[in-house]
Amino acid sequence: MTSAPPRENIDPDADLLTELAAKVPKRAMVVMAHPDDTEFACGGTVSKLCAEGWEVRIVVTTSGNKGTKDPGVTSQDLAGEREEEQRRAAEIMGACEPVFFGFPDGYIRNDDELRGLVVRQLRIHRPELVLTWDGFRPGFNHRDHRLTGQAVYDAIYPAADDHLYYPLDKEEDLTPHRPTAMLRAGTDAADYHVDIEPVLRTKVRAVLAHTSQIGERSEADMLRTWRERARAMQREDDEETADPVFRESFRKVLFRR
Ligand SMILES: [Zn+2]
Repeated sequence: MTSAPPRENIDPDADLLTELAAKVPKRAMVVMAHPDDTEFACGGTVSKLCAEGWEVRIVVTTSGNKGTKDPGVTSQDLAGEREEEQRRAAEIMGACEPVFFGFPDGYIRNDDELRGLVVRQLRIHRPELVLTWDGFRPGFNHRDHRLTGQAVYDAIYPAADDHLYYPLDKEEDLTPHRPTAMLRAGTDAADYHVDIEPVLRTKVRAVLAHTSQIGERSEADMLRTWRERARAMQREDDEETADPVFRESFRKVLFRR
């Protein structure tokens, strides 16, 4: 088994994405619960990473097959439709073809099976940056988001980097891997903000790919709504803040190797 190359020290006080781009291979993985989670929660960040030459893979633990109020739609039809929307959104952002685990919407469990599937993806694609839901935020939160976020955290540490976890992966020559950093979206304790203004239009287009969820809205209409909302938030912000107006906010986690 080949051991990983030594990792240069990531300065915890410097800008995370700049540090990573300079010091580790530019590979990222987004693990979310439903098609459209990525686009809403971190579509700007993904678009930005792709534009800066990162390889970004999207993994979706369910296919969102409950996300409708239409009584005439079956779960199978909806899953197929939503997977197709996710593929289109990934293409718009410049990400790789998404992977779907296919668990039923609303029934995610942080169990051996889910963690094993995440570990396998980490060992195959070896991302240095992982984006997922904050699985530890208290209060109103979709259970699939919470449990996907927890499973990803547990898969990264300790499982993916210890060869005795999920040892069958060795039969495919997959070796242990631990990413350098994680960004948790949907957090109430954000300490890292990504300025998404340069890619706002791409994010809007990727969100709009999910027509089963948001209907036929126009790009101009959505851009206008978002700009108004961002300006309203800016007015509420402390005047001293240096946070970008159009931003995606995360809780940052650095892993030691
Ligand atoms: Zn969701």
